[in-house]
Amino acid sequence: MPLSSSQFKIILREYDYKRTKNAQLLRSRQVEVNEKISLIQALDAKVVAKGIEASKLIIKEPFNRDVHLKTLKLELKALKEEKENLLEKYGYNKTYLDPIYDCELCQDTGYIHNKKCKCLKHALIDVAYEQSNLKSILLKENFSTFSFDYYSSNKLQGVGASPLDNIKGVYSRCKKFTESFDKEFSNLILFGQTGLGKTFLCNCIAKELLDTSHSVLYLSAFKLFKLLETYRFKNDDQEITYDDIDDIYTCDLLIIDDLGSEVINSFTSSELFSCLNTRLLSKKPTVISTNLHPSGLSKYYSDRIVSRILGDFVALQLVGADIRLQKYN
Ligand SMILES: [Zn+2]
Repeated sequence: MPLSSSQFKIILREYDYKRTKNAQLLRSRQVEVNEKISLIQALDAKVVAKGIEASKLIIKEPFNRDVHLKTLKLELKALKEEKENLLEKYGYNKTYLDPIYDCELCQDTGYIHNKKCKCLKHALIDVAYEQSNLKSILLKENFSTFSFDYYSSNKLQGVGASPLDNIKGVYSRCKKFTESFDKEFSNLILFGQTGLGKTFLCNCIAKELLDTSHSVLYLSAFKLFKLLETYRFKNDDQEITYDDIDDIYTCDLLIIDDLGSEVINSFTSSELFSCLNTRLLSKKPTVISTNLHPSGLSKYYSDRIVSRILGDFVALQLVGADIRLQKYN
């Protein structure tokens, strides 16, 4: 996930490019409009003149500064309205000559008050994906390629439903999770034995949300704790800053794949708690996949983690026969 500084520079250069491209577009719009509507230039000149006039007045009468500023503001507002009416009269949108940004939030700088804007976070995660090859996996593993063929329609003893009925329910719950992602806060824990499609479903969810411009961070539990450990103890040559791990707490969706496969100790336990807790408090959804049954989590994790997961996650169990073995046979 942490990017090298050269990759980071490439992304920032793209921001430079966006600003240049939009400035050029705005200039060409200005030229176009000035040719068509001669009055526009006169109005622009008036705006400049009003500004100069007000500055002179303020220098002359500093005690009346507020009055002059107020008058200027009103005059500029009236000129702006006049300009907008004129644009509309000639068939343009009234914002046609406003500054153009790909991202209004940060005005294409990537930052808002020194904090990374959503668009920059998204770009960074995107680059990390390109590197990790996940993008090509997501092209193959998504809701439209999910196959129900590997799930038997025979009822399972003790479960009451067939693996097929069960997976249909799980599939639609996962789909609903992505569809109502912006409206309804919820978290999922997918559990069941290996080879039942948990990772596939996590990929489906990731793809759907990436396609709708959400920042999604997909990490195996092993990688997640490795990253946090490297950051906390700085025991690697790799330089990891808070900026690099910030996404774990703030990305739109965090997917922790294969929880329980990591070395579980007091460090991973407290990091997992702080990660889940931070995300729950700021209403940032998390999806977990695990081979462990939620009721058995307490064997490995502290009570506070288990109660967080049991209380705030929708548990979805996958049942059936190992798909990888079926494919092999
Ligand atoms: Zn932005």
